[in-house]
Amino acid sequence: MTILTRKQNTPLKLIIIGGGYAGLSALITVRKQVPDAEITLIDPRPYHLIITRLHETVHRPLDSIQIPYSVLANRFNFSHKQGSISFNEEQLKVWNLNKTIQFGEESLPFDYLLIATGALPIQAVNEAAVYDLNAISQQGFASVLQHFIATTEAHEKTINIVGAGPTGIQFAFEIAHVLSSCHADYQLNLIDGGDKLLTAFPAEIGDYVEKRMIEKSISVIKNQFYQGIQANEMVLKQRQTGEKSTQTSDLTLLLLGKKPELLLHANSSGQVMLNHKPLTAIFTAGDCSYYDDLGSNLMTSQSALRKGKAAANNILREAGILCFCLPYMHQDIGYLLSLGANDAIGWIGSKNNIISGLPAFIAKEAIEAQYNWLLSGVDTYIV
Ligand SMILES: Cc1cc2nc3c(=O)[nH]c(=O)nc-3n(C[C@H](O)[C@H](O)[C@H](O)COP(=O)(O)OP(=O)(O)OC[C@H]3O[C@@H](n4cnc5c(N)ncnc54)[C@H](O)[C@@H]3O)c2cc1C
Repeated sequence: MTILTRKQNTPLKLIIIGGGYAGLSALITVRKQVPDAEITLIDPRPYHLIITRLHETVHRPLDSIQIPYSVLANRFNFSHKQGSISFNEEQLKVWNLNKTIQFGEESLPFDYLLIATGALPIQAVNEAAVYDLNAISQQGFASVLQHFIATTEAHEKTINIVGAGPTGIQFAFEIAHVLSSCHADYQLNLIDGGDKLLTAFPAEIGDYVEKRMIEKSISVIKNQFYQGIQANEMVLKQRQTGEKSTQTSDLTLLLLGKKPELLLHANSSGQVMLNHKPLTAIFTAGDCSYYDDLGSNLMTSQSALRKGKAAANNILREAGILCFCLPYMHQDIGYLLSLGANDAIGWIGSKNNIISGLPAFIAKEAIEAQYNWLLSGVDTYIV
């Protein structure tokens, strides 16, 4: 990439809404190339959460996967404003015109705005003994599980995980490991509305996971949709017949996936498109964005990261700081699923190239390490 001098002499003002994978990779990319840029990050959390490691909070404290924004702000020289910003398409048009957003009483001017607010849990709950992604992201799961084990006298207790996507499966293996090491002989169920596991992946991956589940005494209950829970009775609906049944649940994890509150369409530079026209000063990246051209729109950390970098480089191009950069063309190059200590499965390079066991576990750790390096200032990602 060729670096030009900026058209004007004033420092570039960038506001990023959302400090997840996409927001931070964009921030770091801009900071590396424009040391004097004035960057403001808005996020309601006081810390960045390494959510791809959330299942590990079954046995380790939540703060081991949190990095305070104050630490990152010192490292990458930005200002963090703690709060949430609401917006809709009309609001975006006004922001694009005025190049200012309102944060409480404060008016924040910008040259460019990047929206990277991610996605929200599909179904949030507020019931005792039911934990969804929000609850686990806020308090972890190790203390919940330890408390449950410590205060449970009867042997026949049931833990249900609803949602057998990658997140539910990873949680199931971690919980099975903790139960076994505490000699807590509870029933552990994984409940899903589909009739097969991991249908978006090659069949071999689902087969391997099911085999391992049998070994770990995790029962899979398929074709059942979660309808709700009262006290410790969960209501399920059979997929084909619609028949309702109840399932005892002393502890429930509701891991039904995430979807963006407002999906923003973007061109291949990451510029938000409204009515087929780009908002020239507003970009988007990550799970809240859908790029209309070539690259992957999967809701994965690697797509979020690559979109963040692509959007950042295109912002610099628009600002006259870079003279050239490529559009977003990233295709996912693998996906690995952790199955507890020293085991994992997934594909790397192509979906035909499946790895499992210790090699997959090591590859997954390497992917996490690469992200840790990025957050410590060493960028090894190739765009
Ligand atoms: C439990 C779990 C495990 C996963 N494991 C994997 C994995 O192993 N591999 C993989 O590739 N992908 C995985 N994913 C998917 C991956 O984590 C996401 O694709 C990625 O986090 C998306 O990045 P993002 O920056 O778009 O959003 P996020 O990382 O979710 O970040 C969004 C940020 O925006 C902030 N925010 C939200 N709304 C507002 C607002 N209104 N104003 C201001 N800030 C706001 C949030 O606080 C958050 O910090 C996993 C997801 C989950 C939930």
